[in-house]
Amino acid sequence: MEENPAVIGPSDTAAFYSCVGCFRGLKNVRFFCPRCHLPACRTFCSGLRDPAGHALECDLLHNKVVPLSYHAWPGIAFLLRCLLLRKANPAMWQLIEEQAPFAAMKRVEK
Ligand SMILES: [Zn+2]
Ligand SMILES: [Zn+2]
Repeated sequence: MEENPAVIGPSDTAAFYSCVGCFRGLKNVRFFCPRCHLPACRTFCSGLRDPAGHALECDLLHNKVVPLSYHAWPGIAFLLRCLLLRKANPAMWQLIEEQAPFAAMKRVEK
């Protein structure tokens, strides 16, 4: 049985930067997302507009709600993408909440 991941993000242990849209490895950072200026494989990478992918965090980064330099991109943006799932895909968020170990902790805090 194969399961679809809830969130896909770049590796924070990769030796190279990867495109924020499609995660293709970038040996040199030559192009950027035209809105938030994170590294991309090309200006028009279709992944940059993916509503379940980079588009999730692009608005926040573009509006500088979350200031983020691309050097810190991989780890932070993946976490951001996970948190934004709550709004973008409430059904998936519900599933994660039900299965995550911190769910029990949250119930205790109420
Ligand atoms: Zn790309
Ligand atoms: Zn962007």
